[in-house]
Amino acid sequence: MRILLVEDNERLLQFLAAGLRSGGLTADGFATLAEAEAALATVAYDAVVLDLGLPDGDGLDLLRRLRTRGSSVPVLVLTARDGIDDRVRGLDAGADDYLLKPFAIKELLARIRALLRRPGHCLGVVLSCGDVTLDTTTRQVAVADQVVPLSPRETEMLEHLLRRCGRVVPKRALEEGLYGFQDEVSSNIVEAVVSRLRKRLSQVGARAVIHTLRGVGYMLAEPEA
Ligand code: CA
Repeated sequence: MRILLVEDNERLLQFLAAGLRSGGLTADGFATLAEAEAALATVAYDAVVLDLGLPDGDGLDLLRRLRTRGSSVPVLVLTARDGIDDRVRGLDAGADDYLLKPFAIKELLARIRALLRRPGHCLGVVLSCGDVTLDTTTRQVAVADQVVPLSPRETEMLEHLLRRCGRVVPKRALEEGLYGFQDEVSSNIVEAVVSRLRKRLSQVGARAVIHTLRGVGYMLAEPEA
């Protein structure tokens, strides 16, 4: 799950990004509307966390443009403004939720999870392929009901593969899903994570195998009987 963060307070942005990552989400952070628009044009985000007072304009303008374009991406507005008018303006502009500053990162994570659980989003479900399961709320991975501890990155990779169980996931999609803009993406990293994950699954005797389709991508599938 990849989240776009738009916040011009550098320290707050870093704090939010770290908080979202600790919650198992991928976060791309930007300080201006222009950068956020550019990111939205290239990445299909699962949700947006939007500050209103930004150096190059009002976050609500971005929100209105998104809705005008027909985007239904869930948007949570962050604001220090506590006047009722501002809340109404935010919701009128198409915000799904809002949070007043200051707030606890735990509450932000809970609100984002709630947005991602809405119809059309599939957080809050248990994904499975063969006897491999991932509870997308607790981030717990199990093989034949036995919990298998994985790193956050391995879990994220498994989630992408589970969501397309039996179908090929292009390597490019895995790179985009696993890493934010700030990260150096090297294709070796994807290969390394896949390799570790494959090893873990085989160690616990999972009835699902990660296949490599050279030059194309990867596929998690049950072995044919
Ligand atoms: Ca601001």
